[in-house]
Amino acid sequence: MRPFSYQRATDPGMAVQALGAAAAANNPLTRAAAQPLAGGTTLIDLMKLDVMRPSAIVDINPLARSWSTIDSEGDSLRLGALAKMSNVAANDEVQRNYPVVASSLKLAASAQLRNMATLGGNVLQRTRCSYFRDVSYENCNKRNPGSGCAAMGGVNRMHAVLGTSDQCIATYPGDFAQALIALDAAVEVTGKSGTRSMPFTELHKAPGNTPDIETTLQPGELISAFVIPGRWPRSAYLKARDRQSYEFALSSAAVALDVQDGAIKDARVALGGVATVPWRAREVEALLKGQKFDDDLARRAADAAFADARGRQHNSFKIALGKRVVARALQQAVMMEI
Ligand code: FAD
Ligand code: SF4
Repeated sequence: MRPFSYQRATDPGMAVQALGAAAAANNPLTRAAAQPLAGGTTLIDLMKLDVMRPSAIVDINPLARSWSTIDSEGDSLRLGALAKMSNVAANDEVQRNYPVVASSLKLAASAQLRNMATLGGNVLQRTRCSYFRDVSYENCNKRNPGSGCAAMGGVNRMHAVLGTSDQCIATYPGDFAQALIALDAAVEVTGKSGTRSMPFTELHKAPGNTPDIETTLQPGELISAFVIPGRWPRSAYLKARDRQSYEFALSSAAVALDVQDGAIKDARVALGGVATVPWRAREVEALLKGQKFDDDLARRAADAAFADARGRQHNSFKIALGKRVVARALQQAVMMEI
């Protein structure tokens, strides 16, 4: 591990100031130079692996007093960015009205990790691409811009089939982000000019020509909360993986439905494990709206979700698997008793 400075921020202003100053001292100005520390369950790993090399760490855990609450505000839910994954998954209101959120968190990582890890850290976790995480491989455009992509001609079983570019095919690995996408959540960002809010779909950036730039956050900015409008008791998260616990998704689907008089009035679908960013399947949503659910509709929806997918040497199975996951997640949501 390389030397770094450590500072404990006792209020948001101090955290933003410390992160901004450390980022500005770096040339060029990047977020990578100054990293907030939340649960540390992935940041510290990546620092030990020499993949992330921040010169400054700003510990934001003291902000948990105000940034870890779970609040029902009218018809919406506000989740503090420093709330622990396990606390949110176990919350009564979340389980009752946002089961897709509770399941996405419960099915992630391990109990020990969920007790340490925060929501903000979870959505900002980096890809598990083995070439990215192993610095003995030179060719990784995400870690080493302009160096090429070892995964394209290498072992790419875990890689993405949607949202890829000729620069990077790494999969976004998290689970919770898909639930946020499906529920049209907003993310609150705190920076030197105060707090701004944007649709969660605008947080992550597809790799394009700059796979090293993964989010729209600016240097010094922190995620302070997530806000989910409405209540979605008919919602489900389905995750297919190589083993039943402590494993990342090969394919997952977050589904939220509003079913009235047997017809789907509104539908939200997001995919995980198959795309470079948390993936909103809007074509599936359009196809479902106004329809009565049956096996044929589920099959057409699943086909639509992967119409633009591109498989590589080892990961084409994700297209067939992903379709089954979408169809089954929809069935689960339709059959829920609420
Ligand atoms: P940290 O490690 O503290 O931070 C992660 C990143 O986010 C850092 O860059 C940090 O600077 C930044 N950051 C943290 N908080 C903020 C904030 N508020 N604002 C701005 N930046 C911030 N996840 C899944 O979803 N599904 C899985 O199946 C899964 N399996 C796992 C298995 C293993 C073995 C491990 C080690 C991890 C697994 N994870 C999985 C990932 C795990 O959920 C994340 O490590 C965890 O959620 C990160 O949260 P943290 O609070 O520890 O983040
Ligand atoms: Fe790097 Fe992306 Fe290629 Fe993996 S897929 S080696 S992260 S450029």
